[in-house]
Amino acid sequence: MVKETKFYDVLGVAPSAGESELKKAYRKKALSAHPDKGGDPEVFKEITSAYETLSDPQKRDMYDRFGEAGLSEGGGMGGGMDPSDLFSQLFGGGGGGGSFFGGGGGRQRGPRKGKDLVHRVKVSLEELYAGKITKLALQKNVLCKGCDGKGGKNVQTCKSCNGQGVKMQLRQLGPMIQQVQSPCEVCSGLGETIPPKDKCKTCNGKKVASERKVLEVRIEKGMEDGQQITFKEEADQAPGTIPGDVVIVVDVKPHERFQRKGTNLYTDYEIDLLTALGGGKFIIQHLDDRALSIEIPQGEVIRPGTAKVLRGQGFPSQRFHEPGDLYVNLRVSFPETMPIESIQLLEKALPARKALPKMDSKIHVEDVEMDDMDERETRKARGNGQPGGMDVDEDDEEAGGGPQVQCAQS
Ligand SMILES: [Zn+2]
Ligand SMILES: [Zn+2]
Repeated sequence: MVKETKFYDVLGVAPSAGESELKKAYRKKALSAHPDKGGDPEVFKEITSAYETLSDPQKRDMYDRFGEAGLSEGGGMGGGMDPSDLFSQLFGGGGGGGSFFGGGGGRQRGPRKGKDLVHRVKVSLEELYAGKITKLALQKNVLCKGCDGKGGKNVQTCKSCNGQGVKMQLRQLGPMIQQVQSPCEVCSGLGETIPPKDKCKTCNGKKVASERKVLEVRIEKGMEDGQQITFKEEADQAPGTIPGDVVIVVDVKPHERFQRKGTNLYTDYEIDLLTALGGGKFIIQHLDDRALSIEIPQGEVIRPGTAKVLRGQGFPSQRFHEPGDLYVNLRVSFPETMPIESIQLLEKALPARKALPKMDSKIHVEDVEMDDMDERETRKARGNGQPGGMDVDEDDEEAGGGPQVQCAQS
């Protein structure tokens, strides 16, 4: 039992009609009532509106239970989509086609929205750490103030295209009906005409003028790379449309000393061997005007690659009050050479040399010389990843077809 049958009557189907029956009925009715075929636009609108409701299971359910009153939220009849939009979705518009599945600008309600203007702003890590306001000047179209974007006086809807700016033609190709769209030649696609003497003097009937606008972009502390700042409806204005947004995308420049992940910062710092072994101070210049002085206490040994953390010295957070942490990866720089007279001091200070392993008497211990690698060998060793880590397996290219040697494991 349905409360009202009006929509079903408009389409000429029973309230029990299935989806495909509805679609078929709509297609037939809409084709014969299409304004381009001399049909009454109001009737066409009614048919489309009825179909729009009944083809949506949720809306159909509401209509069946409460009648048109159940649809009042969306404005009921005519409050939905542009009837010609639905029509072209069903039959494939003349344009790009395939709009049924949401491509292009298919389903639009209300005035069209203009294109967003996307602009990337390069920001250094320092700027992001402290926050910053940057000014951005843009040249954009605004509605002409001389005519309020109307183009002049006596603006008339083009009679040739009914103000659509385009003309639709239906073509039958075998079983298919194709809708072909071409711009109206009378109004050059504008949908309206203005007598030459009534055209706005300021914009010469163009309705828009170019204007320079300065936007204040607030780069907030702790913003992320790729984060967007939106200025609603600040893009080009055009008559009858909602301007698009100006979207500023934060683009963080890489930093030479710091890397950032979320609210944590990571840095490498190289200390000398004496500090690593004997303690001492070092200083890390932070991203603002501070420098952090850090002391390695005497007695502690820092091995190369030791990581330490400076709590609360990371990046400010937009969401939380506490900043993140700063992780420091300590490297140790070794001296190039060692004065021979100092060696006995080292021998005094450092643990004794590791004793040589006792070899079985059957093994012949041979004295050999150790050479530095030549440049090519060094490059090859570096190219294989970790410094000093040579990948012997891949070293066979220039070895030629010699016998394969395998290391015996002891
Ligand atoms: Zn004007
Ligand atoms: Zn026209």
